Amino acid sequence: MGLLDLFRRPDASRDRAAIEIDLEVGVLERCPVCRTITDRQYDHRLPAAEQLAHQCFDRDDPRIAAFGGNRDDLLSRLRSVRDRFEYDCLCQEG
Ligand SMILES: [Zn+2]
Repeated sequence: MGLLDLFRRPDASRDRAAIEIDLEVGVLERCPVCRTITDRQYDHRLPAAEQLAHQCFDRDDPRIAAFGGNRDDLLSRLRSVRDRFEYDCLCQEG
């Protein structure tokens, strides 16, 4: 893949889809109070996220349309998107 392709890739929508799947299975959580997304290091839930990702591809779920059938990209993003989230939201700190 060339450098230009890298910039053209619809990264934002792909990341958003990965975040949605992580939220759905509980890899990531959304605080019910402030709506901030947190990563509480629930690594044991990653297999469920991967399973859901495969199910999305199998049934052509519109949520993962941005991946154009690239399962590996989604599977790696299920992990990489977690980097941007903190363990705690502001209202849970202290
Ligand atoms: Zn909060």
